[in-house]
Amino acid sequence: MIDTEYADSRSDMNVLAKLRSIFENAAEGIFQVTLDGHILVANPAAARILGYGSPEELIAEVTDIRQLYVDPERRDELIHEVKTKGIVTGFEVQVRRKDGCVIWTSSNIRTLMDESGRIVGFVGMGVDITERRRAEDALRESEMRYRTLFERAGDAILILEAEGENAGKIIDANQAAAEMHGYTVNELLTLKITDLDTPDAAKETPDRIRRSLGGEWIKEEITHRKKDGTVFPVEISGGLIEFGNHKYILSFDRNITERKQAEEAIRSEYAFRKAIEDSTLAGVATVDLDGRQTYVNPAFCRMVGWTEEELLGAMPPFVYWPPDEMEIISDALQKTISGRAPHGGFELCFRRRNEERFDVLVFLSSLKDGQGRTTGWLAAVYDITERKRAEEALENYAIKLEDANRLKDLFTDIMRHDLLNPLGIIKTATEQILVAETRDERMCNTLQMIKRNADKLIDMIKSASMYAMLESAEKLERSKLDLSEIFREIANNFKSQLEEKNMKLEYISKSGCCVMANPMIDAVFSNLLGNAIKYSPPGRKIEVKVIEEKEHFKICVKDWGYGIRDEDKPKIFTRFQRVDKKGVKGTGLGLAIARRVVDLHGGKIWIEDNPEGGSVFYVEIPKA
Ligand code: ADP
Repeated sequence: MIDTEYADSRSDMNVLAKLRSIFENAAEGIFQVTLDGHILVANPAAARILGYGSPEELIAEVTDIRQLYVDPERRDELIHEVKTKGIVTGFEVQVRRKDGCVIWTSSNIRTLMDESGRIVGFVGMGVDITERRRAEDALRESEMRYRTLFERAGDAILILEAEGENAGKIIDANQAAAEMHGYTVNELLTLKITDLDTPDAAKETPDRIRRSLGGEWIKEEITHRKKDGTVFPVEISGGLIEFGNHKYILSFDRNITERKQAEEAIRSEYAFRKAIEDSTLAGVATVDLDGRQTYVNPAFCRMVGWTEEELLGAMPPFVYWPPDEMEIISDALQKTISGRAPHGGFELCFRRRNEERFDVLVFLSSLKDGQGRTTGWLAAVYDITERKRAEEALENYAIKLEDANRLKDLFTDIMRHDLLNPLGIIKTATEQILVAETRDERMCNTLQMIKRNADKLIDMIKSASMYAMLESAEKLERSKLDLSEIFREIANNFKSQLEEKNMKLEYISKSGCCVMANPMIDAVFSNLLGNAIKYSPPGRKIEVKVIEEKEHFKICVKDWGYGIRDEDKPKIFTRFQRVDKKGVKGTGLGLAIARRVVDLHGGKIWIEDNPEGGSVFYVEIPKA
């Protein structure tokens, strides 16, 4: 700075020379300006800062100091301030250099007065602070960036005091840290990190701080506690940072509740899958896309006899493939890869460690990753040796059964044709002799006995062959038949027997009871009527009633005979179950035949007691 007042004075010339030298050589620009903005004096530095060749050039070209201002209003602001305060320091303003480029300058300005104290102008000293401003801007920007990062980070960021009695105190925290723990940022700033730790985690905190101070970057999973007491798992990642001479701990905390839950879900899923794979009887084996064996379950190892260690990592052909089956197995694999695996799986032959071959049923399917890409192939393998054996046994049994059936048919045929004929001849001959030879009583009795037995045999053969035929029949041909007519004929057939035992048959029915039936249906009613006669003492009556129901005709055959004990009732419809009726002739097949015939008609047969003594047999036959 130079004051022209002194230049004119007669003071020491050396001082003046010194001042001029300072003025000429100063790094700062020194200038004097009139009230209306005219530059009176400027030093070389001022010219240099503003891009002019010399102070003279500057003074000549800048006729009004306002020309230099990027924002001329700042000049008015400055003048106002200098006038009121007398001096302004560090006035920072953007000015335009001669070449048009804009720079930042910082100046100290003060007023210049005449003797009467009137402001006549200003003197100032300025420096170019463009570089400093640029550095400051860059710093501010980077600070902003970091602040934004700090504030917006998804993870909690905490800065803690690292040393001294306040070690662990929270110095700074971001919004995420506040939200994660249910506090406000300001509340966090009054706490220590141990206030966020659960008691268990807090025990280890001094040790973590100590290790951080030792330079270790800590990464651990611990538990934190929210303001409301909720405990949650966090992954902390932190270490030492130093500002100036002060040590802090920077800690990033991530709430890993969801990750833990996902891990837990995966763990239990894995445990579940493993339990199934370990307990299943099915062998499970997988290969990757190269064909390498990647997994085998215990059942598979048991099945083939090789251990997991021996099987894993192997490449095809696998040890459990019999060499002569390779082609079939490869073909099955090929079919699976091209999506042509049959639903029912492949029946293949595998080999055990002891060389034994065994049949397996293999279901092959592809293994997919999360994106649905095929990562390999899975085989579910069932040892079907036993099943095969059972199938073979069953097949043999069926063959034997067929043979037996053929034999039965043959025998039935023989009975029907080859036995009945000679028996018929015996019977007729006996009858003829009986008619002629009636005088000799003994002979007569013998002949009667022969006839009785021939009758019995004929009955038996007829019943047995009928039963055999019904057993193998699946259905009977049916046509419309009138029950009244059937009964009329049956009653006719039993006429002599009824008379013999002095019994009366009462028939109660309306006419035209039509059913869809096979003519064999008469065997049912003949048998019931025959039994009613056989198992009743002479002189009793028998009642046959036909009742029309919605979908059936119900036929009741009621006798007042010996009746049937409750414990015998379930047995009488099965073949050869004669219930203690010694002396009464019968085959024990009659009711079995009746039931089979009724079944084949889609009807029902059952027995009830006659409350007045005796039995009632019921038969239901669908209406026509
Ligand atoms: P069976 O040829 O012996 O008559 P059934 O199959 O016709 O054979 O009858 C089986 C058994 O049921 C008979 O032996 C008899 O004990 C008993 N039974 C059948 N009907 C009657 C009835 N109406 N009264 C008493 N017992 C009967």
